[in-house]
Amino acid sequence: MNSRASNPHSRQLYRQSLQYLPGGVNSPVRAFRAVGGNPVFISRAKGAYLFDVDGNSYLDYVGSWGPAILGHAHPRVVKKVREAAAEGLSFGAATERELVLARLIRSGFPDMEKLRLVNSGTEAAMSAIRLARACTGRTRMVKFDGCYHGHADSFLVKAGSGSMTFGRADSAGVPPGVARDTISIPFNDGEAVERIFKKSGEKIAALIVEPVPANMGLVLPEPGFLRLLREVTSHYGSLLVFDEVISGFRVCFGGAQHWYGVTPDLTCLGKIVGGGLPVGAYGGRREIMDLVSPLGPVYQAGTLSGNPLATAAGIETITMLSRSKDVYQKLEALTVNLRKGAEDIIRRRGVSARVNHLGSLFTLFFTGKQVKDYRQARGCDLNAFARYFRGMLKGGIYVPPSQFETNFVSMAHTPKDIAKTLEVMDRVLRSI
Ligand code: PMP
Repeated sequence: MNSRASNPHSRQLYRQSLQYLPGGVNSPVRAFRAVGGNPVFISRAKGAYLFDVDGNSYLDYVGSWGPAILGHAHPRVVKKVREAAAEGLSFGAATERELVLARLIRSGFPDMEKLRLVNSGTEAAMSAIRLARACTGRTRMVKFDGCYHGHADSFLVKAGSGSMTFGRADSAGVPPGVARDTISIPFNDGEAVERIFKKSGEKIAALIVEPVPANMGLVLPEPGFLRLLREVTSHYGSLLVFDEVISGFRVCFGGAQHWYGVTPDLTCLGKIVGGGLPVGAYGGRREIMDLVSPLGPVYQAGTLSGNPLATAAGIETITMLSRSKDVYQKLEALTVNLRKGAEDIIRRRGVSARVNHLGSLFTLFFTGKQVKDYRQARGCDLNAFARYFRGMLKGGIYVPPSQFETNFVSMAHTPKDIAKTLEVMDRVLRSI
């Protein structure tokens, strides 16, 4: 098994893909634009390792951006998907697996009294906001700079530098009318939250937040911040929506809402609940969810929603997480070792960097300062990050190809893998 020596086949596939797919990819970060170089094309994955089309292997800290908490291609999950496939790929009709998965999700998230399965995190967040608007009869939505909730029009808005801004879209093609209803404010800024609600609270349908933001790199909520969001939204009759597409079943079985003891009105899930296949979910209190079609007036549907293969993978993944008593402690212990090792290297090598970490999530930020919001994350040395990424990849370690992403540790990572990662990191940071 090589670590990465060369990748002529990846290069060739990339060149060809550029002719057919915008940027050669089907999701932008895969193109490595933030870090330079050619993207590697993966042919298979097993446990904590990815294998590319040139026969190189990589120790993986992306984990398909979250779903692979058990490691890639876990034999039990693969077996269940195979069994499901043999029984038929899609029926477009109700199945028992949807009920089983909904029950399992509710065992971790008891406040999702009812939920709807969809095909992605984007769909979950988009549908939750439509529901919140219907429920409150209001149109505006508050989000936080640097929080990502999928690519629906109304989420593609962030604030101009630090101040409260009524939406200007980050993406072309978003109608100004849609962007105008999105207000983006800095994360961890309680005063900004209070100010915007004082000004327009009666018009705000929902506040949506990643309770543990993982899309500006990993950022942790300050003590009391999530509780404040709960209080303010309740006071103004707006719905609090937790986007736990990453944190759900990741920071602990009950997600960030259990970890921090704050209950939202609606929750969005994705990634782990599909065990590597396309699943999302949104849910909340019964009376809110009963507004969804066919019971209520909020339309939302999906040809492949609750797909048999996807639900089979989700059921087996969540079942395994629920049965193993120490899965989250194990993940935490591995990641703590990695964090401590990284901090030691940073100190010894005199690198301007720091680690944010929770459970099996972590980000190495190239800055000497704390990172508690998007503005601070943007202050990182992106050239240093790009050199770090390329050095790690060359050493056979696949970390996310952007400073503004989070690393994922899985149950398949071993203490030996962590030691190997630190060895490569030491070499890379020595010459950063
Ligand atoms: N919400 C969060 C917090 C996410 O991290 C993501 C994707 N990374 C999404 C929503 C969108 O999910 P998907 O890519 O499955 O549409």
